[in-house]
Amino acid sequence: MRHLPSLLVAASMAFTFAPSAGAEVRVLTSIKPLQLIAAAVQDGVGTPEVLLPPGASPHHFTLRPSDIRRVREADLLYWIGPDLESFLPRVLEGRSDPSLAVQNIDGLHLRHFGEEHRHEDGHAEEHEDDESTDGEAEGEHDDLHRPGALDAHLWLDPGNARLIAARMASDLAAADPENAARYQANLKAFDQRLSAVDAKLKARLKPLSGKPFFVFHEAFDYFEEAYGLKHAGVFAVSADVQPGARKVANMRERLESAGPSCVFSEPPMQPRLAQTLSEGLPVRMALLDALGFDLKVEADGYERLLMSLGNDLANCLEQL
Ligand SMILES: [Zn+2]
Repeated sequence: MRHLPSLLVAASMAFTFAPSAGAEVRVLTSIKPLQLIAAAVQDGVGTPEVLLPPGASPHHFTLRPSDIRRVREADLLYWIGPDLESFLPRVLEGRSDPSLAVQNIDGLHLRHFGEEHRHEDGHAEEHEDDESTDGEAEGEHDDLHRPGALDAHLWLDPGNARLIAARMASDLAAADPENAARYQANLKAFDQRLSAVDAKLKARLKPLSGKPFFVFHEAFDYFEEAYGLKHAGVFAVSADVQPGARKVANMRERLESAGPSCVFSEPPMQPRLAQTLSEGLPVRMALLDALGFDLKVEADGYERLLMSLGNDLANCLEQL
């Protein structure tokens, strides 16, 4: 899918897309953050839908028959790309209207997972051993975050969000020329709000660079890069599995050597080992939500997603 030419060129739209006059363009996005960006662009004109229910991980999702129907019926469909929503390409073949993997948008800032998180603390080899000796499955999730792979959590870069919004605005204008001016105005308003939020986040997070924190899911690298933060390590265990004693000991060792630090997991679930990990150590546990789990779908939803990420990081790191 990655190499498909962009499918939403205006010319093809004119032939393949003909909404009845005045009808709302039905926009469907795979994940909530894309829905929030679309909501900003469609503000006052329409309401975008989302495929993944709250709390579902795009890394492990299975479409229901009703989802497949929604995929087929949407006028415009946006997803990140096959590295994130591996469940989607097969279903997209059944669509006649255009869809866009936003990772293909020109000029997007794309990161790849580096080797550094495997080696930064010298535990990389041991870490691998633990996985096999404890009989724990690395799982699909970890495979998706392997060194060298595209880091698909690209919506957490504010610059990427601008490009995605701009693309949605031009697609919507082509599909619904009557409201073209409105989409452009919405895009401009989105850019302005985003600049304000970006400045606030930079001011608050700058003094916190260098404060150590760990994540259970390597989903925040774009955000970290944008705001000068860097995680000290990743605990690659899934939220509902209690890892073996050796692995827990290894994680505690890493925490011990980091000193006072924050450990972030994702809502809705805090890993069962959270307590075991932090017991007797100067470690603060907190939640960090890359997907905007509990955010309302409103025009400023994306900015609130960034703000709550920044606030949740800062509220913990400031207390170290
Ligand atoms: Zn991920």
